[in-house]
Amino acid sequence: MITLDSSYSSQILTPERIWINCLKVIKESVSPMAYSTWFLPIKPVGCQNNILKVELPGNFHWEWIEEHYKSLITKALKSAAGNETKLEYVVVNDFDLEPESTKNPPYLSEAKIEQNTVLAQQRAVEKIKTNLNPKYTFDNFIKGEGNQLARAAAGAISDNPGGTAFNPFFVYGGVGLGKTHLIQAIGNEILSKLPGKKIIYLSSDQFTVEFLDAIQNNKANEFSAYYRSMDVLILDDIQFLIHKEKTQEYFFNIFNTLHQSGKQIILSSDKAPKDLKGMDERIISRFHWGLQADIQPPDFETRIAILSKKANDFGIEVSNEILEYIATNITSNIRELEGCLIKLLANLSLNSKEITLELVKKTVREISTSKKINIGIDIITKITCEFLNVEENKVRAKTRKQEVVLARQLSMYLSKELTKSSLKTIGLHFGGRDHSTVIHACTTIDVLLQKDKSFKESVVSIKNKIETACS
Ligand code: ADP
Ligand code: MG
Repeated sequence: MITLDSSYSSQILTPERIWINCLKVIKESVSPMAYSTWFLPIKPVGCQNNILKVELPGNFHWEWIEEHYKSLITKALKSAAGNETKLEYVVVNDFDLEPESTKNPPYLSEAKIEQNTVLAQQRAVEKIKTNLNPKYTFDNFIKGEGNQLARAAAGAISDNPGGTAFNPFFVYGGVGLGKTHLIQAIGNEILSKLPGKKIIYLSSDQFTVEFLDAIQNNKANEFSAYYRSMDVLILDDIQFLIHKEKTQEYFFNIFNTLHQSGKQIILSSDKAPKDLKGMDERIISRFHWGLQADIQPPDFETRIAILSKKANDFGIEVSNEILEYIATNITSNIRELEGCLIKLLANLSLNSKEITLELVKKTVREISTSKKINIGIDIITKITCEFLNVEENKVRAKTRKQEVVLARQLSMYLSKELTKSSLKTIGLHFGGRDHSTVIHACTTIDVLLQKDKSFKESVVSIKNKIETACS
């Protein structure tokens, strides 16, 4: 304990109270990321003869603080406890992040326990943002044949994060099939069972943006240290890291550190690791260390189960005949099934109509038409060229190089399939080519699709990308 001179009131300050006051000063001078990476994990453990002892989680942490924040800490300490007080670091390895309140040793006085609880609460409030959406749970995730393995592994991981053979856990599959729902449900489940765990969810796009921001501000090491300090890292849509070499490099290092220290890594992607062309081979090989589970489109029975559960959640009554009509006509993904119910609900409340089969048919028709209206030839061309690694302007030029011809023909084919444009309009978008060229392109692609399975998978991926971009 420290007895402060008169300028710091006559009160006796506990180590916790002093440290909380220090944190207040520190918080004003550093970024939120630096604050939660470097300062929140520090624990005050004692105070005697004007020396405040704090515990740090490891040597690396201590070196970093010494190198970057020494003067800030001195300033904070001075303002919290006066000139006389010095700081002493105790470096502990394998730092335990359990909430304080669960760890009070029995010999502590009640007053001390209360102070510890205040600090624990303060930490809890300031805990890192997990970005998890609480609406994604296991309870409302319908099991079906298409997601059986992924769902079972997800359950095992949430019981024992980092402690199963499913590390990393790599979930892949088409758009709207429940990848985001499932991986966030793992995070939410862990959070409810083990509230002391540091969990972060983010999309790979967000990860890249944060990384570029960190680079620009000379904070790349801090960025990396922040993610390396997590217990569970959930990165969605990892395909967005393709061709982003520098971001991949940092991801690779974060991955290694987390994996080596038994922390759980959960990833999702729109395609299998082997198809992630443009992703560092070293990263892809690490995806094979754990479990890869794909999610397939739901079969008819699962579609019915999902529809009745969602209709029930929305509080609407829908007859079996109607459920079956929707499940027969909307087959590609769960997001669309959900979208159909939302549209029905909107029609219902606006016009207070009853849900009739007629209304459902009209709604289903509207959905498939609006899908076509939203998709344009330009975005199809852009995404197809990106996927095939061909410069977009070349498909509009006269080039006859094999890879350019393929990109051009596939863009034409997809334009025919995904838009309502006429053959003539499509031809015009590709350097004013004739409608017979478009027909030829469609026939060529049809033949390829029938004889080349891996080409077919690529086309499904491209279609998914286009539909996601336009939804
Ligand atoms: P993805 O990430 O694969 O594109 P999402 O996880 O965003 O797909 O799922 C799209 C929508 O469908 C979400 O609203 C999600 O809650 C719902 N959904 C997906 N799979 C299921 C499932 N098995 N049970 C219930 N809802 C699901
Ligand atoms: Mg998703």
